[in-house]
Amino acid sequence: HAKNKGKNCYSAFVPEMELRAQKRLAMESNLRKALSNDELYLHYQPQIDLRSGRIVGIEALTRWTCPELGPLSPAEFIPVAEESGIIVPLGRWVLQTACRQAAAWRRDGLLDSVEHVAVNLSACQTRDSGLMADIRAVLDETALPVGLLELEITEGVLMENVHANVELMQRLQDAGIHLSIDDFGTGYSSMSYLKRFPIDQLKIDRSFVHDLPGDGEPIATAIIAMAHSLNLRVVAEGVETAQQADFLRRAGCDIVQGYHYARPMAAAQLTALLRERQDWRPGAQAAP
Ligand code: C2E
Ligand code: MG
Ligand code: MG
Ligand code: MG
Repeated sequence: HAKNKGKNCYSAFVPEMELRAQKRLAMESNLRKALSNDELYLHYQPQIDLRSGRIVGIEALTRWTCPELGPLSPAEFIPVAEESGIIVPLGRWVLQTACRQAAAWRRDGLLDSVEHVAVNLSACQTRDSGLMADIRAVLDETALPVGLLELEITEGVLMENVHANVELMQRLQDAGIHLSIDDFGTGYSSMSYLKRFPIDQLKIDRSFVHDLPGDGEPIATAIIAMAHSLNLRVVAEGVETAQQADFLRRAGCDIVQGYHYARPMAAAQLTALLRERQDWRPGAQAAP
């Protein structure tokens, strides 16, 4: 009986795995063309200071509509880009596009309240010896003040190679770049490691924010306390409800990011929002 059951599972499992492998291959070959064919674009999501209600950060997120496979989520294509090495030129493109956009917003006076424009960095990029030179070239080209650039590195990636990453991050920080640990709480970093990383900010993973108020409370509260005791700013990602926002405000979280405030949006849309908010004063309109 058990054998039969196993056999059924097996036969149902194989086609799905094959399908996934095929999609992955198709994605990889399409992704190789995507960069040169201008199929990639960025969306930008505001990060809001809970005290002032102002937009203090902007995160750039890559979007891809493949002509053959349709719109794909970064959760699908970023891992493929990483495994195939395409992430290195793709990451360079993200950095360049985000910095060019940030420089344009700045020239138009739209970044007065914005302290950081953040770009996600993948594991491959942290191992790429050309990273520093790429960043310098982009900053030179765009004339973006280096202090505006923030790099987000996931806790998982950091912990893969602590020694090499401490060294890389030290060089990035020495160059004036701000560093943020993404998806914090899902990895395995200890307090002593956190102290060694030259970082500015922790982002509470959205899985904990999802469970606020409720099961996520002890972890969110602990991360906020720990971050503040290490003089780090805390961002909560994935804030979708007013209840989550209220809890985070009471818990002393510094910055929020999520659908409750704004979805990731096209550059032109964020331009309009930044314009609208230019003369905005907390309290003058509805609270954030
Ligand atoms: P992440 O860096 O942690 O980015 C936050 C993700 O949460 C984004 O998903 C964003 O759209 C989503 N999000 C924001 N607010 C909410 C919310 O209120 N509720 C929910 N459910 N989700 C929210 P996205 O854009 O699909 O990206 C997924 C991940 O893919 C990113 O997670 C990041 O790890 C990776 N990624 C995206 N763009 C890039 C990139 O240019 N380079 C690299 N290396 N990774 C990227
Ligand atoms: Mg700064
Ligand atoms: Mg991120
Ligand atoms: Mg995250």
